[in-house]
This record gives sequence, structure tokens and C-alpha cells, in this order.
Amino acid sequence: MHEIDGNTRVLGIIGNPVRHTMSPVIHHFLAEQMGDNLAYLPFEVQNDIHTAVKGAYALGIAGMNVTVPYKSAVMEALTDIDDEAAKIGAVNTLVRTEHGFKGYNTDVTGLRRELREAGITVAGERVVILGAGGAARAAAMMCASDGACELYLINRNQEKARALAEAVQNGIGSGTSAGPEIRVLGLEELERLQGNGYIAFQCTSVGLFPNTDEAVTESREFYRQLKCAVDLIYTPRQTRFMKLAEAEGAKAVNGSMMLIGQAIASYELWTGHTVPDQVVKELLGELTEKGLIG
Ligand code: NAP
Repeated sequence: MHEIDGNTRVLGIIGNPVRHTMSPVIHHFLAEQMGDNLAYLPFEVQNDIHTAVKGAYALGIAGMNVTVPYKSAVMEALTDIDDEAAKIGAVNTLVRTEHGFKGYNTDVTGLRRELREAGITVAGERVVILGAGGAARAAAMMCASDGACELYLINRNQEKARALAEAVQNGIGSGTSAGPEIRVLGLEELERLQGNGYIAFQCTSVGLFPNTDEAVTESREFYRQLKCAVDLIYTPRQTRFMKLAEAEGAKAVNGSMMLIGQAIASYELWTGHTVPDQVVKELLGELTEKGLIG
């Protein structure tokens, strides 16, 4: 790693909890490979996100990632917000500008990278989103803006799925395309899903390590209706959701490339450098070797 000196640019991540984050490992690996003089630190913010962002700006911090629970709350502390992040209603990356921080959502950039590398496109496709939290929101908004024709939003708490449907409709309303047909279902209503050939995004936390023998649904009929299953979870490498989908003939991928993709997109925004594919491959190898991704 570059020696820390008077010219070191300071970056970091704000959230709570934040001590488990693997972002410092990722960004220091990238800085080493790219020859950049930077340090990336976790900052646990107890509650006053507004003061934290103001303080970070006053201290000359070059950029920040934002994680749970501040991805939406941080937006009020910013001087500018990228259009897509505004539509999603969540920001995970702050970039220093002349008058304050500008907010971006690179989770969605990471998800697009995940799909590109897996050879999956959502344009003209029927999509199922399982979950209605922050990750589901990014996935739903991405599918709507990238031309999915049908969008089923399925969540244990249907109220939250309905609120997400409304947010997606409003997001589309401010864009140019007509947007997909959106339907909301409860998890116990999966049999109401009609037809097959769906791309499913598993955006719940069910199946996350250490609960690796769980899946959000065990319905074989549901998995038979899928052609692709994208699980946003990256530990374990192969989730039960992925196994069940593969057993019924669907292609399945995990969320590792989304994780790496969001970090790379943030890094590129902060440094103005393009990270070559070879470095991305090495980063994937490094994280796997360290046991940080499954
Ligand atoms: P979140 O906002 O807390 O949302 C959690 C979602 O999981 C909600 O829809 C919740 O349903 C559902 N859920 C939780 N327990 C459940 C259960 N027992 N049965 C059914 N549904 C359940 O979390 P998030 O930030 O969206 O993250 C969700 C997942 O995505 C996590 O596993 C996270 O690791 C992963 N993720 C990956 C990346 C990546 O880079 N690959 C990025 C972001 C997130 P209710 O609304 O009914 O409670």
C-alpha cells in the first residue's frame, strides 16, 4: 500500500453497524493496483448523519460510501443528487464537489455489471423481485428503467411491496419510457405468478450466512417458472435459492459481482480512473482467497 503522507486522500464508509465492512479491503486493494495514494476508513455514525456529512466535508474527505441505515437519510445532507439515485431514493456514494457532496447509487451500477458479466439482460423480460428493502428497491428501479416488460414485486410484508410499486411508478413517471406492468404479491401467493421464463432477483436476507439452509421459498413450481435466478447474497457462494433454481433448470448467479461492481463504480467516481478488467478479476480472487466472499 502507498505510504500515508501529507497528500493521502481520505475516503471512508459511514453507517451503523460498519465494523464488519469489507470495503476497506476492496478499496486498499484497488489503490495498490492503481497506484493511488488514498486511505479508506470505517466511520460508525451513531445517529446524526447530517453533522457527520458536514464534518466530513469540512475535514476535506474526498468521498464516502454510505450503508445501512443511512442510504436514504443522507440525501438531505447533500448539495446535489444524481438523477438515478434520486429515483431510487437511496444513495451509497458521496463525491466531493466544490460546494458539498454529490450523491450517487452505485449499487445499481454494480447490479448492472453483475448482469452483464452473467450475460443476462432484462429488456423485454418478465421479472420477479423477491423482497422490498433497499436492495430490492435498486433492483426494481433498474429493471423498470432498463426495459423489463413485467415486474412482480413479492414480499412477506405486502404493504412494503405496494410502497415499492408506487415508488417505481413515480420513478418511471419522471422518465421517458412507459415502464413495465407492475403487480404486487405476498410471499404466500406465489402460485398466482402466471407463465414462465422469468428472471428472479432474490433481494431478501433469507439464506445469508450462517443460515445457509434457508431459502425464501421452497416451492418447486415457482423455481420451474424461472429462466434465471440472481441472488444478491454473496456468502455463501451458492445459496439454497440458487440450488433450488438450478435443480429446475434455471441459470443462477450470486451477488459477488454486484458487490465488487458497486465498489469499483465508487472508486472510479472518486479517482477518475477506469479499473481494468484484469484488476477486477484479481480483486475477485483476493476476496475469495481471504474468505470474504463465498
Ligand atoms: P433490508 O432493507 O433489511 O430488506 C430485507 C428484506 O428481506 C425485506 O424485504 C424483508 O421482508 C426480507 N426478509 C427478511 N427476513 C425474511 C424472512 N424470514 N422471510 C421472508 N422475507 C424476509 O435489506 P437489504 O439492504 O435490502 O439487503 C437484502 C439482501 O441483499 C441482504 O442479504 C444483503 O446482503 C444483500 N445485498 C447484497 C448486495 C451486493 O452488493 N451483492 C448489496 C445490497 C444488499 P419484510 O419487508 O417482510 O421484512
